Amino acid sequence: MDHTSLLEFARRMPKAELHVHLEGATRPETLLALAQRNGITLPFQDAQGLEDFYRFRDFDHFIEVYLTTTGCLRTASDYTFIANEFGKECARQNIRYAEVTFTIKTNMRITGLPWQTILEALNAGRALARVELGVHWQWVFDISRNNPEQQEDVTSIALQARPQGVVALGLGGSEADYPAHLFQESFARARQAGLYRVPHAGEHCGPQSIWDALNLLHAERIGHGVRCIEDPALMETLRQRRIPLEVCPSSNIRLKVYNDYAQHPLRRLWDAGLLVTVNSDDPPMFGIDLNHEYEALVTHFGFSAAELEQISLNALQASFLDESEKERMAAEFRQECAALRKELLL
Ligand SMILES: [Zn+2]
Repeated sequence: MDHTSLLEFARRMPKAELHVHLEGATRPETLLALAQRNGITLPFQDAQGLEDFYRFRDFDHFIEVYLTTTGCLRTASDYTFIANEFGKECARQNIRYAEVTFTIKTNMRITGLPWQTILEALNAGRALARVELGVHWQWVFDISRNNPEQQEDVTSIALQARPQGVVALGLGGSEADYPAHLFQESFARARQAGLYRVPHAGEHCGPQSIWDALNLLHAERIGHGVRCIEDPALMETLRQRRIPLEVCPSSNIRLKVYNDYAQHPLRRLWDAGLLVTVNSDDPPMFGIDLNHEYEALVTHFGFSAAELEQISLNALQASFLDESEKERMAAEFRQECAALRKELLL
């Protein structure tokens, strides 16, 4: 198969994404524009300094970037602006559907705005992206493990915000220091109310953390989950129960879960028959985008055009869209991929 054409296919094909953080997806240029309109001085002077500041160094630096980004948000219209920018980034990469994680409590604390105001503003940007760009997304509101005292609030907000496009409760932050059992009650509340559960697990901690996400939090998808590779029984459980994994290859390498693509287990998870999806996590912070991850599937993991298509369809299947919408989009994706393969002679 022609490598150049395959890379072009990877970039142009229709995609869906299930693991991306809105704050972490905000591009340096957007941050600069926000800082300018709000009169905020950033810890760098020019475009190059901005790029360097954004490039991930270690986890503390990651948090610093995250807080700097959130710290530039002041008004409701800033939220509409970042949602708009996010929509444009999706359109550029032909990402047609996404489930986007947003850490509502951190944003409320930093801006002092109530969640309703923030979400309404975000949804104004989301609505525009849907109408003008054909890009649709729904929200995952996540609890930060590092702030377990906020979990009740976050869960209540997520439940109340369902009519405004919140489909799931997430769980991010330090997996090692704040294990799943601390969040069991909140996830039980979400489950009782029929809100989906998508905790991060099996990224910085091993298989036990994934078992706990399944057994204690009743996770329907696992954020990352790559370290199930260390436990054959867990892999078999995930395979049998068709639990999707939100795999973010470059994120795992930048955050030093694996040294390089050669050591990353994505291909082995795929070959073992797990329901694998591929995602970007915090794209500009890792110097990537989703197109880059799909290209990496070709370059580093030897995926064919048919396999790339299946990865994208897996994301639709693993999404929380309703069944008729999934089918409609999957048919569209198949048709577009077929046309693209014909054009590129793949
Ligand atoms: Zn994440």
